[in-house]
Amino acid sequence: MSTMKVPLLDLRLQYAAFKAELLPILERVYESQAFILGPEVTALESAVAAYSGAAHGVGVSSGTDALLLALMALGIGPGDAVLTSPYTFFATGGAIARTGARPICLDIEPSTYNLSPVALQRFVDEECTSADSVLVHRASGTRVRALMPVHLYGQMADMAPMMALARRHGLKVIEDAAQAIGSEYLDGARAGSIGDIGCFSFFPTKNLGAFGDAGLCTAQDAELAELMRVLRVHGGKPKYYHALIGGNFRIDEVQAAVLNVKLRHLEAWTEGRRRNAAAYRELFAAAGLTGTVTLPYAQPGLRHIYNQFVIRAPERDRLKAFLGDEGIGTEIYYPVPLHVQGCFAYLGGKTGDCPESERAAAQTLALPIFPELKAEQLAYVVDAIRRFYG
Ligand SMILES: *Cc1c(COP(=O)(O)O)cnc(C)c1O
Repeated sequence: MSTMKVPLLDLRLQYAAFKAELLPILERVYESQAFILGPEVTALESAVAAYSGAAHGVGVSSGTDALLLALMALGIGPGDAVLTSPYTFFATGGAIARTGARPICLDIEPSTYNLSPVALQRFVDEECTSADSVLVHRASGTRVRALMPVHLYGQMADMAPMMALARRHGLKVIEDAAQAIGSEYLDGARAGSIGDIGCFSFFPTKNLGAFGDAGLCTAQDAELAELMRVLRVHGGKPKYYHALIGGNFRIDEVQAAVLNVKLRHLEAWTEGRRRNAAAYRELFAAAGLTGTVTLPYAQPGLRHIYNQFVIRAPERDRLKAFLGDEGIGTEIYYPVPLHVQGCFAYLGGKTGDCPESERAAAQTLALPIFPELKAEQLAYVVDAIRRFYG
């Protein structure tokens, strides 16, 4: 047994770095006794929108609620279908199903783990009929209304071909950017600035994490942003007059205050993650492991923000157990793809439908990557992996 400990994530180190800055601001929030949708929220909405290259930001209660609100604002519901990746956190598919729409899972690219534009095109060509920019999924009879790519692990999905296809067929695009704040596409466009709506999560383990649950939707269109603001408060406009049915998707001042302070540090933290990723690449190469494990593919020209550093590893489950015994925290994101989740059995998905997603679910392992990790810790992780395969 070793004495070195490398947790998957340790937020206490980060807290120490901004605590002095934060506490007086929190005290101001407490003294004001204004808890919901106040000035901290307004400031957060402008700041995250500006940071992400979007015109508008709408703060919400979680990343899950950001996805649900986006779908509701686009009028998606029963009889509709939304195309997405099965290799994602459950909320992506759950939010679609909760509107009454049908989630349709298409396979991923094995290199980036993101939704494959080739699979998307094939689906449209082979499984849909298209007339007057209405796309119908033949097998289910649903109208395909939207596309929800996920920028998994902090690297953006291949947006250009997907946006072109979406525009051709009148599909709305919702970016699940929960893991990708500050991530950039080829032209430097940031996550949340390309689709109709971008959805962010501030769950504590995300790169920008709150002290609880919080999220945000971005949009370039002012009317769409305003509609999301109204739906966020049960659709009441003016208050107590409901032309629409929304929900309680509100974000509170304490979370917004924390996020406003942390946002000032986000670039430095992201650079720390990127440095750690580069260090891992050198260490894995030096240990002669690059023929054994597959390191994350960082697509040239994109900015990966490494919410996770995920390798493909032979004997993944045994490696995970071994690393656990060595004091190293790892996680499997995600062991069961959406199309084979029990709750989606009614959709008729089965093993073999999305082979790349299934392979990824069986082979991938996330290693510690948080910015405060020390060089010795990274070296220790790689050395432990070398010992496992040695
Ligand atoms: C975290 C996450 C969500 C959900 O966000 P919450 O804030 O936990 O509700 C949705 N999609 C993806 C890809 C995520 O990683």
